[in-house]
Amino acid sequence: MNKSKYIWMDGEFTPWDDAKVHILTHTLHYGNGAIEGTKAYKTVDGRCAIFKLKEHTKRLLNSSKMTLMDVPFTAEELNDAQVELLQKNELFNGAYIRPLVYLGYGVMGLYHKECPVNVAIAAWEWGAYLGEEGLKKGVRMKITSVTRTPNTSGMGKAKAVANYLNSQMAKFEAVEAGYDEALLRDDHGYIAEASGAAFFMVRDGVLISPPSDNSLESITQQTIIDLAHDMGIKVERRRITREEVYIADEAFLTGTAAEVTPIREVDARQIGIGSRGPMTEKLQTAYFDAVAGKNPDYIKYLTYIN
Ligand code: PMP
Repeated sequence: MNKSKYIWMDGEFTPWDDAKVHILTHTLHYGNGAIEGTKAYKTVDGRCAIFKLKEHTKRLLNSSKMTLMDVPFTAEELNDAQVELLQKNELFNGAYIRPLVYLGYGVMGLYHKECPVNVAIAAWEWGAYLGEEGLKKGVRMKITSVTRTPNTSGMGKAKAVANYLNSQMAKFEAVEAGYDEALLRDDHGYIAEASGAAFFMVRDGVLISPPSDNSLESITQQTIIDLAHDMGIKVERRRITREEVYIADEAFLTGTAAEVTPIREVDARQIGIGSRGPMTEKLQTAYFDAVAGKNPDYIKYLTYIN
């Protein structure tokens, strides 16, 4: 891991190695917390900017609301903290930013109303989530036996720490079976999302992504839909069954960390040409242009840190 100098903890810039919590921290025991995953990129003019910072912070606060945690900082304070953290850590070449809202020390037992709510933000340099090779050639996916927690039990729209048990079980199953990434269905059998990314497929020139009925509302998914509209590509949000994935012309994942990662195989079926498809490549290029400040229409989503 690429350590940086400081981690922001409840308003203080704490040296990386001192950023510790008590072993009786509530979240460690019962799993209620909320995270974000936000990314900053070096832009075309040599400066560095956080992409869609406001959207990520808003989702962090919404996730915390859904999971009954009263965050003691405003969106503005959290946005400023993230900018300042990158500046203090001199992360001017880009960074991954990980805010965490967690229940702290002082209360044990499940009823957490009196438990302190703490916030920490870390940032460090982190390369392509599914590898540089994955971005170019595509990844191999397994539709896992583990399905996404149903909405009747989970808080699917929250980027809740607790949701990542489900994701971890699916990811482990896929990787142990020799694949790169897991694709999860919902409890009705329709494609929901990957363990840490949204799913898209292309069929007969139409870009299709499942509705966010049982998945995180992916910020990158929305960016890709907007870019596709800009290019005149027809976009559908509708349910997708497993066998339709197998016969897709193209498929890819989107996420802040996964960016736009092509899918070249699902469950031993080659997808399309078995590498990055033409529409995937167009959208991937457009995405990297947008985050790098090369697309004037998307500059409004950039928060420059220098
Ligand atoms: N689904 C899950 C389960 C995720 O963890 C992520 C990554 N945050 C995504 C989708 C993609 O979301 P975003 O584009 O907002 O990063």
